[in-house]
Amino acid sequence: MLKEEILHILRCPACAGQFSLISPEKITCRSCQAIYNQEAGIWLLAKKQADDVWDISYTQAGQDALNYFAAKLQKVNPDSIVFKSYYVFVELLYQHLKGKKVKNYLDIGCGSGSYSLALTKKILPANIILLDYSLPALRLARDLFAKFNIECSLIYADAFNLPLIDNCIDLSITSGLFEHFQEDKQKLLIKEECRVSQYVSCHLPGNFWPYWLYRFVVTMINRGWPFGYEQPLKPKQTLSFFQDNGLNLVAFGYHNLYSSIIWSNPDKYKFLEKLYFQPLADFFSKYEYAQIFKK
Ligand SMILES: [Zn+2]
Repeated sequence: MLKEEILHILRCPACAGQFSLISPEKITCRSCQAIYNQEAGIWLLAKKQADDVWDISYTQAGQDALNYFAAKLQKVNPDSIVFKSYYVFVELLYQHLKGKKVKNYLDIGCGSGSYSLALTKKILPANIILLDYSLPALRLARDLFAKFNIECSLIYADAFNLPLIDNCIDLSITSGLFEHFQEDKQKLLIKEECRVSQYVSCHLPGNFWPYWLYRFVVTMINRGWPFGYEQPLKPKQTLSFFQDNGLNLVAFGYHNLYSSIIWSNPDKYKFLEKLYFQPLADFFSKYEYAQIFKK
């Protein structure tokens, strides 16, 4: 069942018309009469595509990935230094919003949903929308959120044509999305995100030397880079793309590889956690960064 509050902020991807609910599993566009269905908890607001590289990787990841994220997010303390660095965008938002309630929340390219689930450990939005262009990813996200009993709306849609009305989202996030596109597409994705959002959290790998070193090592071990096309961006570039759409930077932080190592095995690496000194780790192993923007 689609929440009433979410139905009101959706719009038809074909004509931007408003929707009416026909049944718990069907909505229709009041302007062009197109009908969209829900299947196994996922609203299909785009034409189904042939499986691509992401569908395949999320299908393969399957249950193992689900159990991995669930076990981690159950165990790790959201106030620990490692959580704060690994999910740096969560901490930045938590500090910046200072308890301000988030009503409508959107994760664009949610993947397994683990980033949004991490966010709920510190900030619980009233309406959570998880959006992706991969059905296997959305199924994983659905099952992961169900494990934690957190309600969310799952939408299969195109990030270049979000089925949402202007300015309806209080906070949207992307985690590892823009780097998978070339620059002209990155700009279009950001423009579309800014059209619907008041606050934006952008988390992605940076064009820094630890990224390229990590990529080299992973490529050697796997005999190829397993994460598809990637063009990391410098924080300055991302900033200028958001500024072009009228948003301003309100917070910035790094996610470093040191915290990833501890995060991968918090029990075993307890002693590394004790040695953790964020400015030093950021300097030597800054890998990803998070920027928070405000309209
Ligand atoms: Zn329509």
